[in-house]
Amino acid sequence: MKNQAQRKERIGIVGAGIAGLASAVRLASRGHEVEVFEANPYPGGKLSQFELQGYRFDAGPSLFTMPQYVDELFRIAGASPQGRFAYERLPVVCHYFWEDGTQLLAHGDRDAFGQEVEEKLGVPAQRVASALDDSAHKYELTGRIFLEKSLHKLNTWTNWKVAKAMMKIPGLDLFTSMNRVNERNLKHPKLVQLFNRFATYNGSNPYKAPGLLSIIPHFEHQIGAYFPKGGMNAITQAVYELAREKGVRFHFEQPVERIQVEDGRARGLQVNGELHRYDRVVSNMDVFFTYKKLLPDQPHPKRTLSQQKSTSALIFYWGIKRQFPELGLHNILFSEDYRTEFDHLENGKIYEDPTVYINITQKLEPGDAPEGHENWFTMINVPYDDGQEWDELIGWARERIIEKVSRMLGADIRALITCEEILEPRTIQSRTASHLGSLYGTSSNNRTAAFMRHANFSSRIKNLYFCGGSVHPGGGIPLCMLSAKIVDEIIHENQN
Ligand SMILES: Cc1cc2nc3c(=O)[nH]c(=O)nc-3n(C[C@H](O)[C@H](O)[C@H](O)COP(=O)(O)OP(=O)(O)OC[C@H]3O[C@@H](n4cnc5c(N)ncnc54)[C@H](O)[C@@H]3O)c2cc1C
Repeated sequence: MKNQAQRKERIGIVGAGIAGLASAVRLASRGHEVEVFEANPYPGGKLSQFELQGYRFDAGPSLFTMPQYVDELFRIAGASPQGRFAYERLPVVCHYFWEDGTQLLAHGDRDAFGQEVEEKLGVPAQRVASALDDSAHKYELTGRIFLEKSLHKLNTWTNWKVAKAMMKIPGLDLFTSMNRVNERNLKHPKLVQLFNRFATYNGSNPYKAPGLLSIIPHFEHQIGAYFPKGGMNAITQAVYELAREKGVRFHFEQPVERIQVEDGRARGLQVNGELHRYDRVVSNMDVFFTYKKLLPDQPHPKRTLSQQKSTSALIFYWGIKRQFPELGLHNILFSEDYRTEFDHLENGKIYEDPTVYINITQKLEPGDAPEGHENWFTMINVPYDDGQEWDELIGWARERIIEKVSRMLGADIRALITCEEILEPRTIQSRTASHLGSLYGTSSNNRTAAFMRHANFSSRIKNLYFCGGSVHPGGGIPLCMLSAKIVDEIIHENQN
């Protein structure tokens, strides 16, 4: 079988985020001896959960796309997901709300979505279909190349598909902003705003990010948006259990202090002052802190590490003592002035009329909240931490959010909140070591961003590899999964 190790090696992994877990499954499935050190007492990093007064909350990611990458891990491990990991495709991906009372259901089925747009916004359904075709076309041309391979290996660039994609660059809208592409394709301001929102899926600004990012709607509206049974944390649990089954050894509450480098090679990990020797090391820790904290004496790729970070988030996890039938699993309450909202984020500020996202897993998992209640994950995009007065800002933003949601849903939200927990840029950094609390590593606000992310291997230190949202191909669960796949492939190639 192709999936066998050439030579059994000892591999140490820093961090049990989803990319660290996926790397562990892949490498252990090749027969390697894998050990994972995790600073937290639980696996999953951002992809984790917690309970608060009878409500269950997914702590970070709420949207699940490209489930095939989880299925692939089961296949590689020679296990069946049956009875262990299940998910369903969402018939309605998102409920959109505007201040003028317009409401729109973004159906998972593209024809139904087009019809809804025609009915609610008066835009011909064909226009949505054409925009989604454009999105699919761009993905077909670039997805395999830009996302599934290392951009930093010569053989990626000699692949004929790359050459083909390169020749088509004008059609990829690399030199146009995502907003321009959406204005060109969709024309109606509300529809442009809806499609511009996809830039936030990797923490970017649609008015700056290249039009190539208009591939993102293809993931949601054509490949599909899904919900894992048991909530998002079920992804972590499934991959973690799979890793354990493959013999991976986990050490929780064991932060790695140093990567041991000898003669230009990664040779081990220092934990609690003790050196653990490995043949290879994979870091799932944010690449910025991997260099700053674990490799302080090694040369750092300064340009790569100093790139603009993606946006962060401010989340209020609220227990709500009422149910709202007009809300679904994913809900967006749009700002009236999207461009000004992004200008604020760009300048390190929060806009007074922010776009509010509400995720309610209770809609699909009734046990996630007490009877008659809902578990609201209420989030706005905020800038990465640049030393802002967060305590003051959070209180101010909380008031703006409560006013906006109350106004748009016609209910006094403040009176319905039974309990609250908050996640913000500083705690995102302290809980998962994400530099400045950014959600998706570096931003994609310019056309070279995809090429500027740190590679999945070190070009200076042999046998050192990187996976996770801060390195190629970027943040978000699917891309983190792909980073693990690339790391596994590179290690395998290096062994040959
Ligand atoms: C609020 C929020 C909403 C999001 N929404 C979505 C979404 O809807 N869909 C989506 O696909 N993505 C979403 N994302 C992004 C997604 O969560 C991340 O891209 C992904 O989970 C990052 O995974 P990772 O493998 O990079 O590791 P991380 O989750 O960043 O975990 C890294 C792990 O490494 C550990 N670690 C760090 N340093 C050390 C050390 N020295 N020693 C040992 N362990 C260490 C940390 O404790 C942590 O567990 C969201 C993120 C957040 C925060």
